[in-house]
Parts: sequence; structure tokens; C-alpha cells
Amino acid sequence: MSDQFETLAIHAGQQPDPSTGAVMTPIYQTSTFVQDAVGVHKGYEYSRSGNPTRTALQDCFAALEAAQYGLAFASGLAATDTIIRQFAPGDHILVGSDVYGGTFRLFEREYKDFGIEFSYVDVDDLPAVQAGLRANTKLVWLETPTNPYLGLADIAAVAGILKAHSSQPLFAVDNTFASPYLQQPLTLGADIVIHSATKYLGGHSDVVLGLVAVNDQTLKERLAFSQNAAGAVPGPMDSFLVLRGIKTLPLRMDRHGHNAAAIADYLAAHPKVSQIYYPFHASHPQQALARKQMRNGGGMLSFELKGGEAAARTVAENTRLFALAESLGGVESLIEVPAVMTHLSVANSPLAVDPGLVRLSVGVEHVDDLIADLEQAIAKA
Ligand SMILES: *Cc1c(COP(=O)(O)O)cnc(C)c1O
Repeated sequence: MSDQFETLAIHAGQQPDPSTGAVMTPIYQTSTFVQDAVGVHKGYEYSRSGNPTRTALQDCFAALEAAQYGLAFASGLAATDTIIRQFAPGDHILVGSDVYGGTFRLFEREYKDFGIEFSYVDVDDLPAVQAGLRANTKLVWLETPTNPYLGLADIAAVAGILKAHSSQPLFAVDNTFASPYLQQPLTLGADIVIHSATKYLGGHSDVVLGLVAVNDQTLKERLAFSQNAAGAVPGPMDSFLVLRGIKTLPLRMDRHGHNAAAIADYLAAHPKVSQIYYPFHASHPQQALARKQMRNGGGMLSFELKGGEAAARTVAENTRLFALAESLGGVESLIEVPAVMTHLSVANSPLAVDPGLVRLSVGVEHVDDLIADLEQAIAKA
């Protein structure tokens, strides 16, 4: 098959159903599969171990990340959990600060109790990444762009540091914010890519699902073992929804990036706005890296108002098109105040977020309508 992203998004891992000719992958809504003789089957026995709709999603997703293998989970955090359970008491994991609040909670409130050590480092500070590595560091985990400050890690540079380090840690990138259309971390030297497919891959805010991509066969077998053994798998309906969402990922990401860039320009020029955070905007300190590493700036954007926390709340409560809600990556625009919503679990920690920060998940509506909506809400602040 072609290796063009747009073509893979529609066709990879999928063929017309051999028994009926159905062009779209059927939702194999079954828990079990008949055997022709004892132990003789068509590759499927039980849907925790494998289901054809999930297989199509895993294979399509792997192609989009330019990976050998894809694995699907019940949620992004189930995927994260499956990766972290590969490590043992006494292992150290170096984590990018600004990490997703639920990831931080899983590390600090679940795995710390099992004796895994976590420490945090600014991912845009390469000497700090280097200095954060220990003799027992087994994994480096980061997001780029980060949430909610849209800071960037230079994936290739971090990979280079890790390859040269004596502890030989694995390198995992949470690629949720960028999606594989904007950047493919495995091609830049990462070992593991993880996604909350709940966000851009699904794209329609109608499903919760997680995905992992790797190239190493041994690592894939360990993760697939845990996927089956622990059983945090998505059902066939959810697998189908993400498979369908992926078909329009390139179209949606182009529009998300176009709209967010226009909104970044609008907000940066607004007299009531004190600061914006958007990777492709001239004000971003890592704009050059963003343009090298990412195809466009993505749909996520944060900003601060001169009126601080009160103004942030007023704006978030007065938009009409932008819905006041957590989550991100859907076709519809969302607005939130991270300090008291998505990032509440990191309050009073070193990862705490400024209470005056507003985060937008810019959707694919007409950009003029989105700007008009922000205009009337900011006028009230
Ligand atoms: C939402 C999110 C997660 C968690 O995924 P779920 O599907 O909600 O479990 C992990 N990382 C990032 C960056 C996210 O935005």
C-alpha cells in the first residue's frame, strides 16, 4: 500500500469483509468465537485476547505512527497503566512536568505505593533531562506539546541523550496533543508512543480509548501479554468509532491547526490578553523547534488575561460556541480553566497551573464564528 498518511488513515488494516463484502469493518460484537475442532480456530478465541474490529484499529493506528505494532486499550490511562506495570520496585521513571493530570495521579497515587520512583523535569530543558537521569532510570515519559502550557520537547534530542546514557532507559512519548498526523515520535527515536484516542484520533468526543505503538517485538509481546492478562481492552463498538474517526484525522488536523493559528493571532493582539501559548506563534520561545518537529501547530492553545483568575472564569463561562468542558480534540470547540478543572489533581504540587490560565481546544467550526464568540466573552471580562 501507499505510505501516504491520508491513504493509510482510510485503508490501513482494513479490507472489505470476506464473508459479506461489507466495505466498512464490521463491529464484531461478540465475546467468543466458534472453533472448528478443539484448538482449531480462525485466529480469534475470546474478545479480551483479540477481536477483529480491534485488530483493524490496532493495525491502522500502527501504520499512522509508522510503527510495527499497535495495541488498543480501554482508555489512555489504561494504556499508560499497562506500560508502567512493566517496571518493578526500585525502578526510576523520569517524567516531563506539565504531564496530563490523570497521568500524574496514576504515577503518584497508585504506582508510587508499589515502590516505583518518579521525578519530574521540564521537557524543554535538555540539560535538566540529562541531569535527571539516574543509574536506575528505566523509562523517560513525556508529552509534547505539553498540557496546558504547550511547551515542546525536542524528541530527537531527548532520544539522543537517552541512547548515550548508561541506564539505557526506554523513551515513551504521549502523542495525544499532536496526533500522528503532526508528528511521529518513533521516527524521531522514541520507543513507545501512547495516545488518549479519546481526543484527536477519535475526534468526535463520543468514545474513550487508548492506543500504544512500538517497533520492538519483545516489548510488543510484553505489552500484549499485559493487555490480555490485565484485560483493560476496548470493546468492538469503541474500536469501530476510533477507526472511523481516524479516516478524517488529516482533514480535521489541518482545520484545527488553521483555526488555532488564526485565534492565536487574534488573542495575541487583544489588549485584555497578557500571554498566549501556541507552538506556531511568533511569541512561542520554541517556534523554530515546533516548525521543524510538527506539521502544524495543532488545535490546542492557552492564554492568560490581564484580569487574572476572575477574568479567566468570566470568559470561560460566557462563550456560546466554545463549550465549557474538560477533554479536547473533538470537532467542537471547548474552553476550560485548567487550574480548577483538568489540572485539579496537580493543585498544590510542583505541576500546579496558574489559576488565570484559559485553555482552548479549537474545533473545526468557521474560524470567524469562533473569534466572534471569544470577542463577546472577553468583552465581559
Ligand atoms: C486525556 C489524556 C490522557 C488520558 O486518556 P483517557 O483516554 O482519558 O484515559 C492522557 N494523556 C493526555 C495528554 C490526555 O489529554
